[in-house]
Amino acid sequence: MTTELREKVERIVRQVVRETLAASEGALSQLAGALPDGRTPLVVANWKMNHLSEDARRFASGLELADGVEVVICPASVLLPVLASALGAASPVRLGAQNLHFEPSGAFTGEHGPAMIADAGCRYVICGHSERRTLFGESDEAVQRKVAAALGSKLRPILCVGEKLAEREQGATFRVLRAQLLADLADLGSPAPDPRELVVAYEPIWAIGTGRTASAAQAQQAMAFCREQLAERFGWAWAERARLLYGGSVTPDNAAGLIAQEDVDGFLVGGASLDARRFSEIVAAAAPGRGGA
Ligand code: PEP
Repeated sequence: MTTELREKVERIVRQVVRETLAASEGALSQLAGALPDGRTPLVVANWKMNHLSEDARRFASGLELADGVEVVICPASVLLPVLASALGAASPVRLGAQNLHFEPSGAFTGEHGPAMIADAGCRYVICGHSERRTLFGESDEAVQRKVAAALGSKLRPILCVGEKLAEREQGATFRVLRAQLLADLADLGSPAPDPRELVVAYEPIWAIGTGRTASAAQAQQAMAFCREQLAERFGWAWAERARLLYGGSVTPDNAAGLIAQEDVDGFLVGGASLDARRFSEIVAAAAPGRGGA
């Protein structure tokens, strides 16, 4: 059997197993009063180290939401109060931080602890972004502690995982993703967190800020693999309820093709999130009926 044919057969078998297990586990957990099925599309803006107060205000007044899509904006931490007030208390838009320290408080100059982030109005926090890993030397151990600390403070971690270009070219994508997910989700305690409380973003490093997006098929393949890893860790009924985001040069032009993939539940958007109009177009593309769940 050729490698291509073997991979195809394996994919089909995995899909059948996945659907069967999810159906049976889903029925059991619904009997036990667990969540109904369905993943609300989620679109997250990561402004990185960009924008001043005036830009944040302009963004808030230009942002257009779409029914059925949850929107999160992660500005630089100093902009959180400005953005919160520009959006207004009644806004359904949620705030997120781009990073956190895993210790609750103490002598960590320049850092923000989980309770501070929650106190600033955040519901989400990005953990293990590749720029933190590569530019600031963040290890999987630190990322794991951040994920656990976020969950412990009622923040929803958006855990970023993804392979480097060389790793993809060497055929090591799945190995890297598996290792990151195993390490970053270790020691979460028992019982498992609510699947709505943990978001995983697949962000191939070669696609971040490069203008080079993963094809829809590449994104789907990697994200189906991530969901399988979550299922191995927490069970299929859990994994089918957790949201997986794609990140890496998402634009209004490629968003529709990506969100149409079964395992793409939304986006983590960098460059294109700086402009309210472009970001709103991405949000619109994720709306149920247009591509989102
Ligand atoms: C990111 O920073 O998470 C990201 C995906 O950036 P960009 O959209 O610019 O590639």
